Amino acid sequence: MSTESNAVSFSAVFLAKNPPSDIKISQLAHWGKTFYESGLVRDLEGNLSFRTRLGFIISGTGIPLNGLTPETVAEVTGVVYGLNKTSVYVKGQVVPSRETILHAQIYDEWSSINAIFHVHDIGVMHQAEKLGIPVTSVEKEAGSQDLAQEAVNLLKFNKEVRYFILKNHGVIALGTTMDEAGKLIDEMSMKVQK
Ligand SMILES: [Zn+2]
Repeated sequence: MSTESNAVSFSAVFLAKNPPSDIKISQLAHWGKTFYESGLVRDLEGNLSFRTRLGFIISGTGIPLNGLTPETVAEVTGVVYGLNKTSVYVKGQVVPSRETILHAQIYDEWSSINAIFHVHDIGVMHQAEKLGIPVTSVEKEAGSQDLAQEAVNLLKFNKEVRYFILKNHGVIALGTTMDEAGKLIDEMSMKVQK
């Protein structure tokens, strides 16, 4: 099982150091707390984001999901893919989640997706086949561009999919709203508990 660490595969370029001021951060915090308290993430696991006018707001690296505030989330306003290192342009006080590239690529590709939630629902992962949940074909390192590519590939082949598994790692839920993505995660985890 992979665990999230503080290492990120990109360079964070801070355009502004003031915390993002979006009213929806409280909704992100609500879902982070919900997942943390229900045990779907532990310690520093998981990452959550929602689309903004400039890009998206995402939980910070090294921040537990039960502690999301304007000071512990970052707004990503652009990603530039370099040959050696990818640069992520940020407004905020923290380095955005190590899975920022994965979130960025999904938002770039699918304009109807406005929220992306990633947690480690071990129960769902163990019963993926029984529940009929799609799984990425190859395990990739957490935080890598390859992992992002695996997720994009899966979604290109399964255009209606809004919930899937990153092989041997965790789950991703997509929504047109945060509530949609959050409820998907809740519903799937309840299916396993029955
Ligand atoms: Zn993870």
